[in-house]
Amino acid sequence: MSVAKGMCGVAMAALLTGSAFAAEAPAAKPVVLKAAHLFDAAAGKIVSPGVVVVQGDKIEAVGPNAKLPDGAKVIDFGDATLTPGFMDAHVHLSEQSSDNYYKDFFDGMYQMPAEQALRATAYTKAMVEAGFTTVRNVGDSDYIALGLRNAINAGIIEGPRMLVANYAVGSTGGHADQDPMRPDLIAQAGPIHGVCNGPEECRAAVRYQIKYGANVIKFMPSGGVLSLADPVDVPELTQDEMNAIVSEAHAWHRKVAAHCHGDLAARMAVKAGADSIEHGSFLTEETLKMMKEKGTYLVPTLFAGYWVGSHADGFPPAIAEKARAAAAQSQKMFQMAARVGVKVAFGTDAAVEPHGLGATEFSLMAKNGFTPVQALQAATVGAADLLGVKDDSGTLEAGKLADIVVLPGNPVENIQATEHPKFVMRAGKVVKEAAPLQ
Ligand SMILES: [Zn+2]
Repeated sequence: MSVAKGMCGVAMAALLTGSAFAAEAPAAKPVVLKAAHLFDAAAGKIVSPGVVVVQGDKIEAVGPNAKLPDGAKVIDFGDATLTPGFMDAHVHLSEQSSDNYYKDFFDGMYQMPAEQALRATAYTKAMVEAGFTTVRNVGDSDYIALGLRNAINAGIIEGPRMLVANYAVGSTGGHADQDPMRPDLIAQAGPIHGVCNGPEECRAAVRYQIKYGANVIKFMPSGGVLSLADPVDVPELTQDEMNAIVSEAHAWHRKVAAHCHGDLAARMAVKAGADSIEHGSFLTEETLKMMKEKGTYLVPTLFAGYWVGSHADGFPPAIAEKARAAAAQSQKMFQMAARVGVKVAFGTDAAVEPHGLGATEFSLMAKNGFTPVQALQAATVGAADLLGVKDDSGTLEAGKLADIVVLPGNPVENIQATEHPKFVMRAGKVVKEAAPLQ
């Protein structure tokens, strides 16, 4: 009975949306974006001048010889660079930490999911206005990121295109589980919430996430920094459990992101076939070489390591100790990864640090062995490959989505230009347009 009623409601809504669209939507006017430079992400170089023709949600043509459509709106940004929209392969848009861990915990216990989701609409907006047009949300609770993704897709709120994991998958007491709060007061989590023990339960945990709309699977081979029951580096799943998680996800055509600070856990995850190692704080050269050989991506989240290290005093002692240990290693590990030549996709762990500041990661990469071009590629072609979206994004090419960022000057000469986007377009829609450009 209620199902039939629900379906009727959906049909009615579709009808209304359809008629409103037909009556009001004008034919989209083509837009031409011009600037002194354009970042060719595939070739890894700046070309001059930059010209991109946008029609609807797609790029129609690129380059100074492109035919400019009649009646197009032309915007000339002058001394600026057109780049593909940035991608962040590691965010948590459902939440955001403040400088007060204890207050965050208190607030978190009392905020209902609806309130959390409403607060998160500010985070999705900050994210896209910072130039991040596609993100991968690797773990949350209560399907908040799923709701954000769907609301963004429906045009209800502003935000980047989101790929979501729903609950992260891991063992009891591990980084995917809740902190060790009184079991007589807090219900234990099971496979539907991502907590599993034994290969069969872990397969079930993966299936539950996909059942409720996960685009990607996130799992926890090693301990985490911001959790109270586990050491940061030891493996928290057996090889059989990891094999089950990765093979189940791949069977459903979902990629798998493996949270690993510890080296042994990362090696087991790489062996299981994970598509990316997230964080990787304590990776050894041997493991990095193994990743290079297998084509496993590293998502280094240097900004998160830097942030927790510099805010360690505000955490409970058990977390502070882990934060300092991870922070001391993550940039050194990245220098080694750059030397070894591992594939890198840009990721920040936004939520650990405030949303909207993610471009700081570019500078941290450039300080630790990457050229500015490599850093820009990690956030464009690299992340697009890892996320499985390179057919429609990651470069400024005809036929791809019009996800475009305009940076002042030339980011290859000054990578911090990425922190000050002047203009952001996502799928042909302007989401940020700053005051007149110099
Ligand atoms: Zn994370």
